[in-house]
Amino acid sequence: MGKTSLFDNHNHSQFSFDGQKADLELSARRASELGLGGICFTDHCDLHVPLMKQKYEPKTDEEFEVEKQQSEIDRVKTVLLSEGSPLKIFKGVEIGVYRDVREKIGRYLEENTFDEVIASVHYLDDTDPYWGEYYQDKTFKEAYGGYLEALYTEMKWLGDRFDIMGHYDYITRYAPYPEASILYKDFPDLLDEILRFLAEEGKALEINTKTYRELKGRLPVLDPDILRRYIELGGEFVSLGSDSHKPDGVGFNFQDTAEYLVANGIRYGIHFENRNPVVTPLR
Ligand SMILES: [Zn+2]
Ligand SMILES: [Zn+2]
Repeated sequence: MGKTSLFDNHNHSQFSFDGQKADLELSARRASELGLGGICFTDHCDLHVPLMKQKYEPKTDEEFEVEKQQSEIDRVKTVLLSEGSPLKIFKGVEIGVYRDVREKIGRYLEENTFDEVIASVHYLDDTDPYWGEYYQDKTFKEAYGGYLEALYTEMKWLGDRFDIMGHYDYITRYAPYPEASILYKDFPDLLDEILRFLAEEGKALEINTKTYRELKGRLPVLDPDILRRYIELGGEFVSLGSDSHKPDGVGFNFQDTAEYLVANGIRYGIHFENRNPVVTPLR
């Protein structure tokens, strides 16, 4: 199995608002040590931050300085190249999609140039699921279904302006329910719409390995039925992302995840260079 064909397409650096433990150069070095083919830095850009979040965190500016991040990437590229590392390093963004700031998001994506754009939902109903309010008075089906619906609606609106659907199962991470996973059997219609959209539009389904780790005694799983349905609807590629916020998170669980994907019929990973898709085998 060639690790060099695996790419970590989702990583945060010190330029993200929550990147206090991050270090772009050390993360790139970690990716190189692991023998990954490449790493993409996708710092957060959320143009709408819920007011309620200020109760817990005073900082509400969740954009990053694109020029500074990209010139740091250029610097690290030069250093690693001079040391003979074959690692590819890409410039990305994780754009937080939110209905009320669509125009702002559209302008931001037009004005900046990236190798890769991940579209993610971090906030909805003007709340931050991380702090729990979103789940109050909702069944797990309402809470997870609402998240999937927002993701689908905003992806359709974004159209050509993104490449990867970020962590569709993010909403399970901080949920209070015994149902720890997004399972196909619970949301067949909504997942069909989403997976069909990805397959038809050539967008990548992200497998975010940070989701599948134990958190507060719960262990979400990647549902093989979702992968099976994705393939049935014409999907072929997935984007692997560790969602690292520090160097030792890069490439988290990639080898096992790649094997699991191959065992479930997904043979190819994808990454993006100057917004162009590049497909590589998962083994
Ligand atoms: Zn995210
Ligand atoms: Zn992220």
